[in-house]
Amino acid sequence: MSSSSTVTPMMAQYLEIKARYPDALLFYRMGDFYELFFDDAVAAAEALNIALTKRGKHEGEDIAMCGVPHHSSEQYLLSLIQQGFRVAICEQLESPAEAKKRGYKAVVKRDVVRLVTPGTLAEDALLDAKQNNYLCAISHHKGSYALAWCDASTGELEVQTVPFVRLGHDLARIAPREFVVPEDMIQELHNATEHLNTSMTTVAHDDIPSDVDGYVQGYFNVQTLEGLGALTPAEHIAVARILAYLETTFQSSAPQLSRPRRHLEQRRMFIDAATRRNLELTQTLEGQRKGSLLSILDHTVTAGGARLLRYRLTNPSLDLSSIHGRQAAITAFFQNPHGRDGLRDTLRKCPDLSRAVSRVTMGQAGPRDLGNILKSLVCAQDLRELHQAVYGTSDLTHAVQTTTPLAQELGRALEDDLPVLARDGRFIREGYDTELDRLRSLQRDSRGHMAQLQSQYSDLTGITALKIKHNNVLGYFIETPATHAKTMMSDELAQTFIHRQTTANQVRFTSAELTALQSDLVEAESKALTLEAAHFSALTEAVLEGLAALNDIAQALATLDVDASLAHVAQRQNWCCPAVDDSLTLTIQGGRHPVVEQSLLEREGASFVANHCDLSAQNLWLVTGPNMAGKSTFLRQNAVIVILAQMGSYVPAQSAQIGLVSSLFSRVGASDNLARGQSTFMVEMVETAAILNQSDERSFVILDEIGRGTSTYDGLSIAWATFEYLHEVNKCRALFATHYHEMTDLADQLKKAKNVTVAVSEKDGDIRFRFEIIDGASAHSYGVHVAQLAGLPRSAIERAQEILVRLESSGAQSSRDFGLFEYAATKVPAIQAPSLIETRLSDIDPDTLSPREALDTLYKLKALLGSAGKPSP
Ligand code: ADP
Ligand code: MG
Repeated sequence: MSSSSTVTPMMAQYLEIKARYPDALLFYRMGDFYELFFDDAVAAAEALNIALTKRGKHEGEDIAMCGVPHHSSEQYLLSLIQQGFRVAICEQLESPAEAKKRGYKAVVKRDVVRLVTPGTLAEDALLDAKQNNYLCAISHHKGSYALAWCDASTGELEVQTVPFVRLGHDLARIAPREFVVPEDMIQELHNATEHLNTSMTTVAHDDIPSDVDGYVQGYFNVQTLEGLGALTPAEHIAVARILAYLETTFQSSAPQLSRPRRHLEQRRMFIDAATRRNLELTQTLEGQRKGSLLSILDHTVTAGGARLLRYRLTNPSLDLSSIHGRQAAITAFFQNPHGRDGLRDTLRKCPDLSRAVSRVTMGQAGPRDLGNILKSLVCAQDLRELHQAVYGTSDLTHAVQTTTPLAQELGRALEDDLPVLARDGRFIREGYDTELDRLRSLQRDSRGHMAQLQSQYSDLTGITALKIKHNNVLGYFIETPATHAKTMMSDELAQTFIHRQTTANQVRFTSAELTALQSDLVEAESKALTLEAAHFSALTEAVLEGLAALNDIAQALATLDVDASLAHVAQRQNWCCPAVDDSLTLTIQGGRHPVVEQSLLEREGASFVANHCDLSAQNLWLVTGPNMAGKSTFLRQNAVIVILAQMGSYVPAQSAQIGLVSSLFSRVGASDNLARGQSTFMVEMVETAAILNQSDERSFVILDEIGRGTSTYDGLSIAWATFEYLHEVNKCRALFATHYHEMTDLADQLKKAKNVTVAVSEKDGDIRFRFEIIDGASAHSYGVHVAQLAGLPRSAIERAQEILVRLESSGAQSSRDFGLFEYAATKVPAIQAPSLIETRLSDIDPDTLSPREALDTLYKLKALLGSAGKPSP
């Protein structure tokens, strides 16, 4: 039996469309439902917990089917996207009536109008208002790599050239929801994307038009590429890949992205992926927002502000003038709490302008979006003087002037209460268009006439229960209870009333007058809808013309919100404005960890003990002290303060002077880092290696208990060597916490190193941690004390105490017994006279090498080993 002969025309259409979207669930529109068939139905029914049914047969087997109602499809979509599915939305492109005109058996035309993927969401219901939803794409051109990323819901687009070795770190910073990778790069990106919590999309390697430049120019409507800033070829390809992917997913209604902004590495603090995680900048190690630095910091009142704040936090600056500019704005709001509160009240009324505008560019906007644009413009008008006073620029004033005609037009045109969909009408205000007013009064009149007609008919028949009603099948009709059927159909009345329908309890009629009235009404209604639709498209046109100014306004409002919010936090939490300069100083008086401080207060009403940190004379501190005494907290608070300072914020301290930090590294010892649960010692060593290889004078490094993941002697040796290397080679500012108090001898000896410890008070055998960092080295580890706090049985504690005393008196704890003390006096290899291989090596810039070139170089270096270049022993 030939299977194709049994396929219905509709199923044939379905199969043809489905074949084009093999990796997506196909939402196939049938009337008021989206239906799914075959494996799609099985997967969706399971994922959505909805009933799986069947419909007809295909190749002798039942066709599995499930469906979701069109009007509530968004919630199902969201759930599917969150579970990692992609969904192709297939709509009916004509009405069944139109299809019938083409023949009795014609199938309604359908096609996919949108492919919904995690990185291309535009619907508010599917998005987190406080967070950008990034789609990222990568390109590779002649040894250089570039990333481009956009937020389709706001229209932002950025691009950056990335050294191959830093790809993973930059992706961790951007944190895209979806990452588009050409098939021929998947393999080499494995390591960089392994730990990324993102949905990977593979595209064919020829996914973009061969004329990349022309394609990009065409999209942004510029004559030359210079118009877009000096993008490299790799950057162009990455941008083109984003655009091409948006075309695939949005089809004809792709958003209009703003011109690509170049993300310049040299202007941002480099923070590697592990450090972002460890410092819990935007989420905790467990993946929660609560408990992160962002959760403490974010007191913004608008969605755009929340997104900008997050952006600043994840991209601390190296640009002094921009840092100082932000500080000045925050200070202005800090000193004027009253003005700040007023501003925040105004901003609270301000809707999400960027997302409303972006929906307009996609042709997905409704009257409510226009209303939101209007509200934002009114806000902006109110705030322009304040903005000018605080920032000293007239940018907002200009943008407001440019959009004043638009605001006036929207104000005249729009009703106060607006529907979501334009096709429902009733969003144009009375008085905006005389023709529309006339049609509406016709409608009102007809309704009045209807009411008159009803009472007239009621009088005529003597049936008080007679009503004129409306439904979608019959239109307007006259209805009486079935008991009156005889009267209504009597010879006398049959002249007037034409029978239409009898139901269980009612009889329904029409009349010549009613039919005439109805057609007037329908005509007026449809004419009014057409007119409103025309106004809607004229208004969206006007919005598109003001696109650039609207984006400026969105940016200005978000900036106001962020700066006022940071001032609000600074005042409430008693923060200070740090002096940020280009020195190599790092001096913090009375610093605190904002998250620990808050949780102490909430949990136990306890206050946080502030601590000083001064790395200006001695830039390498060895922090020893018992467990649970506050070492890790001290390390992290200083790193957090540096980040806050360079994002332009005030900081939790009495005073601070921060010489710009160009890169920030942190490494948390394996056993402290349980949350990741991997074979941690290797990870720890890889990350420590990265720090020793990458940090320099401008870096700030915190190393917390490295070497813990292995045996004591191994661990101590590694910690020791690392500390020396930081001192001799990297010369960075660094805090190094360790429980190996043998290392305190070393820190005493090295010129730029210093010992600090956490104060402990001991009275009558009662030990208390004071969380205070003081000069000097710790004498004991107080592990037994911590064990006691943790509730170990008393007899076990007493026994431990006994053993400890014996061990300490036998002297086995002295560092000299480890034979490591001499090691401190030896020089580390990197400061010996370099060999030929070393010279060659130092000439190489790994960031500019392609993997292929790197391999070649490696062969060459290896060859040197056998020749005269053999390094001296
Ligand atoms: P360590 O790294 O020395 O083992 P932690 O930094 O993890 O210690 O701190 C342990 C706990 O001590 C924290 O969870 C916090 O509750 C408390 N703590 C740390 N630092 C302070 C401080 N400066 N003031 C008050 N409590 C603190
Ligand atoms: Mg610790």
